[in-house]
Amino acid sequence: MPRQDPPHRAKKSLGQNFLTDPNICRKIVDALAPSADDYIIEIGPGQGALTEHLVETGARRLRALEMDYDLADRLAERWPGLDVVRTDALKFPWDELNDTGPCKIIGNLPYNVGSKLIWDIVSKVETLSRAVFMVQHEVALRLTAEPGTKAYGGLTAWVKNYCDTRYLFKVPPTVFRPRPKVDSAVVRFDPFPLTDRPVDRERLSGLVKLLFQQRRKQISTILRKRMKPEIEEWFQKEGVSPSLRPENLTPTQFRSLSLIY
Ligand code: SAM
Repeated sequence: MPRQDPPHRAKKSLGQNFLTDPNICRKIVDALAPSADDYIIEIGPGQGALTEHLVETGARRLRALEMDYDLADRLAERWPGLDVVRTDALKFPWDELNDTGPCKIIGNLPYNVGSKLIWDIVSKVETLSRAVFMVQHEVALRLTAEPGTKAYGGLTAWVKNYCDTRYLFKVPPTVFRPRPKVDSAVVRFDPFPLTDRPVDRERLSGLVKLLFQQRRKQISTILRKRMKPEIEEWFQKEGVSPSLRPENLTPTQFRSLSLIY
């Protein structure tokens, strides 16, 4: 007789809000445009709401990173062909994917780790051909914000140096169990060709963090101790006043300024 597993009790600490609407799940998976030849990685498959649709695409190389060992065991039992990795996605060596050819990454991300994961993935996975993530609605707005707006922040400036981001659609709490307190939204990430991505991650991340830690101050005030003719010339050449705030610099300007600050 097949084993009868007791029903799973959602763990709040792991951000477990499971999708219950198959139409939304299909829409999210479709946004990845998966094909049988793709190497696809799902973060936080949970009870397999998205995984089911990924399996249906016939994808032959499907890997799922799940931190809840109980759920991971159930997934491995249900789909023996699925490569289930029992791990914390925050500790996953994302740059090792650069040895395996093009990949796509998808996930209904746990809210508490979504931004950090996206920060790492877009910058470390050089072989990423597309990613689709569901995140808190407010984070989706940040990921897709334009310079000069309230939602534009360090995460925006960083991610938009690596990818084109597109806000796809909003998802209400009613399609989850248990229901989260906030709206969610799905964002698509289309990475730039490698030659158009930042050459110096460390310098860029240093500048983004330095400026956005004090986002209400003028850029010239934050950079006062670092001011030198090269930086003054940079502002002139870009036609940017140093008395503006960090949110007024475009992602590309962050990149070029990071090379000289
Ligand atoms: N994909 C499923 C769905 O849409 O119904 C579950 C999504 S739920 C919001 C997040 C999932 O990520 C849970 O299954 C949770 O156990 C898992 N998770 C939480 N933190 C994680 C981490 N750091 N690394 C890997 N998985 C994690």
